[in-house]
Amino acid sequence: MSSNVGQNYPYTRETEPERAAAVEQAAARFDGLRDRIASEATPLPVADRDELWWVWACPDDGALGRLHVAGYARDRHAVYAICDNCGKSFLR
Ligand SMILES: [Zn+2]
Repeated sequence: MSSNVGQNYPYTRETEPERAAAVEQAAARFDGLRDRIASEATPLPVADRDELWWVWACPDDGALGRLHVAGYARDRHAVYAICDNCGKSFLR
């Protein structure tokens, strides 16, 4: 079965330590990702960091990857999320 339906809906949730670890792992794995996050997103405010964060299935790699919140998009009112499987970034 192949379908894009539902891939914009959250897949699960994760705690702040899980989110931070996932972003750190992805940043270490993909060249340039750390710089891309720094240039395209603003860091999450400390006040937000004890929340549960949404996790999405990646729309670009057959939903193998999970999108983790890495910050807020600089130019838009959106969450900036990065994929732990393909290294791409998405606005959510
Ligand atoms: Zn992906």
